[in-house]
Amino acid sequence: MASSALPPPFLEVLVDQKIDKPLCYENCGLLLFVGSRVLVPLRNKIVKATVVKALEKPSFAKTAKIHSLLEEESLTEDLMQLATWMSEYYMTPFQKVLTTLLPASLKKKTQKEEQFFVEKKASLATLIELAASISQKNHPQKKVLEVILKQDKGIYLSKLLELAETSKSPVDTLVKKGFLALKKIEVDRSFFQHEDFLLAPSKTLNSEQMAALKKITTKLDEKTFHTELLFGVTGSGKTEVYLQAIHKARSMGLGVVFLVPEIALTTQTIERLLSRFSEQIAVLHHRLSDGERFDAYRGILSGKISIVIGARSAIFAPVQNLGLIIVDEEQDGSFKQTEEMPCYNARDVAIVRAKNLNALCILGSATPCFETYYNAENLKYGQSTLTLRAKQNPLPDVKIVDMRHEDDKKKCRALFSDLLLEKIEDRLKKGEQTLLFLNRRGFFKCQICTSCNETLKCDQCDVCLTYHKGENILACHLCGFTQDPQKAFCKKCCSRETMRFQGPGTEQVERALKALFKEARVLRMDRDTTRHKGSHDALYREFKSQKADILIGTQMIAKGLDFPLVTLVGILNADSMLHIPDFRSQENAFQLLSQVSGRAGRGDFPGEVILQTRLPEYPVIHHASKEDYKTFFHEEIILRKQFHYPPFKKLCRIVLQSSESTLLDQFGAYLTHLFEKTRETDVDILPYTLCGLTKAKGQHRGQILLKALKFSSLKKMVLKIPKHEKIKCLVDVDPLQTFF
Ligand code: ADP
Ligand code: ZN
Ligand code: ZN
Repeated sequence: MASSALPPPFLEVLVDQKIDKPLCYENCGLLLFVGSRVLVPLRNKIVKATVVKALEKPSFAKTAKIHSLLEEESLTEDLMQLATWMSEYYMTPFQKVLTTLLPASLKKKTQKEEQFFVEKKASLATLIELAASISQKNHPQKKVLEVILKQDKGIYLSKLLELAETSKSPVDTLVKKGFLALKKIEVDRSFFQHEDFLLAPSKTLNSEQMAALKKITTKLDEKTFHTELLFGVTGSGKTEVYLQAIHKARSMGLGVVFLVPEIALTTQTIERLLSRFSEQIAVLHHRLSDGERFDAYRGILSGKISIVIGARSAIFAPVQNLGLIIVDEEQDGSFKQTEEMPCYNARDVAIVRAKNLNALCILGSATPCFETYYNAENLKYGQSTLTLRAKQNPLPDVKIVDMRHEDDKKKCRALFSDLLLEKIEDRLKKGEQTLLFLNRRGFFKCQICTSCNETLKCDQCDVCLTYHKGENILACHLCGFTQDPQKAFCKKCCSRETMRFQGPGTEQVERALKALFKEARVLRMDRDTTRHKGSHDALYREFKSQKADILIGTQMIAKGLDFPLVTLVGILNADSMLHIPDFRSQENAFQLLSQVSGRAGRGDFPGEVILQTRLPEYPVIHHASKEDYKTFFHEEIILRKQFHYPPFKKLCRIVLQSSESTLLDQFGAYLTHLFEKTRETDVDILPYTLCGLTKAKGQHRGQILLKALKFSSLKKMVLKIPKHEKIKCLVDVDPLQTFF
């Protein structure tokens, strides 16, 4: 990685603190290069920093010396190149981009973790004899020996004590007598234990999969940059193609990064990957502890690990000789960082990283993002299609039920249509499984005042409070604020009696179902039931092993899960998405509806979907029910063109936030005026308005949208935004959504 043999005499570094100007230090003979992580003195402290430039002469008159090198956390040359691009493209200071690239744990001081490890010191025969000589059956030493004898090499002390159900003293005794040895070793915290997985063979690909793989391997062999869209209907076996592509890349000695949406980073996905490779794989997900993350980073950096699977930020893994990047469900919103700058999209970063490295990037989806499909249609990307389900079974049969008729029949807002209830009953009889999807957790969506129609909102955020029956609280899903429902009153009429609950959530669906089908075993999967580490896996296993008949859930059940025994999917209500005033709302609705429907009939039995809606006339409902992406795309793209939205113009969203609403409005109006006065000719300006979410966590929110043909014009405009100490400005290039 070092570019020259002689260490540079002076260096510019960016410290991890909030100083975005580089500082100059003198090198003291260390082998440093751009991207090295170092410790430097700064105002009586030693702080972490990144080398950004090597110099022959100091750029300041007086320079201090670099303290030391942090060998285990350097950024590679290719990541530094990527950071430079991100800083430019996402209009974010370089220092801030660097902080995004480094895993949070490296910015803190993390220690390697050491644990006691117990090994056999005497011969196997001696130990067996010793165990046999202890006649008392439950003798602690005997139990320790029995566990040890079952181990190949040795065992962690903590695990040994757990299995032998004893304290440490019998182990100490056996160590003292020379039968066992106790030593401290470093633990790898980032890796799944491979012993837990049996290696599974590759599947024989069908002809479509074969054609896709052939194209991919040809591109890998060419060793030039290429982006390939793997456009395959739900259940078409995209994962199998990825797995065999990874095998090919590894056989060529190439490193691999495999990105999946956070929500799909489940045991299922991980198992499918781990069961195919005998080498170590790093799994990066947000539940890792700092220590685990640190270990993974070191393993990857040292070249010990060449396959990385993870969510958004795994795109920054310092994989050596990276040759293949896969982005599964490339359209997924979780790849985009929106809360903070740089507002990067890991999918796009993946493409740029692949380009810098002459690598191959595979984008997989059943419902590609419009920009992606547009690029594939215009031959900017290659395209492989899988039109059939891998197991030869047909796509599910989707029936649309107009819920307005059901409301009339029942003289109230119906939760389930008669048809859906009939089908659920049928599945219960046949012992097949059902998934029910509702995009709202909690019991009731909100409390509303029956006298003035005002909904009860969080004081800090512009969202209504959701009722959770289990805990008997009203909760804000944005900031976590909770309130006793007994004390809730209408802020307009000041009355408590007029408050009524409205809009069902998953919790209510669960109760209603249990009342309707007393014998049914019902599970619920949403953010409330998966809060604890491992609870998601537990629910998944329970349902997969047929310990339940019906699984109710939110988004969480829509993505990536493969339950072969599910033959019925009920979509209770998807209408709320269609009303969102965003240029992408139809696209998003299509994606979600197809994904949910795609959960049905993945095994040996055909699937059926009941799609309940009060907006059956919307074209997206119709197209999604047929999983007809192309027709939908060609209809919708006309509107994109007409209204100058991506992919026809580049979009940039400027979100302004402040605790003072008047000041915010004034600033927004001023900025709009400034933009209009100095407008580049290819730019459209959508003047300042409040965001759909007008307030979050006490901050008022407003926005301006800019659309331009040229990126450079957007940049020129954004550079004009003046700094204001009371206003936070977030620049979101290529926003995924423009409303909330
Ligand atoms: P997708 O990711 O495209 O939705 P999956 O990769 O989850 O689809 O595949 C759907 C199902 O088909 C899985 O159960 C998978 O094991 C199976 N499958 C994939 N490829 C084949 C194949 N060539 N032969 C048999 N089964 C396959
Ligand atoms: Zn009221
Ligand atoms: Zn709130």
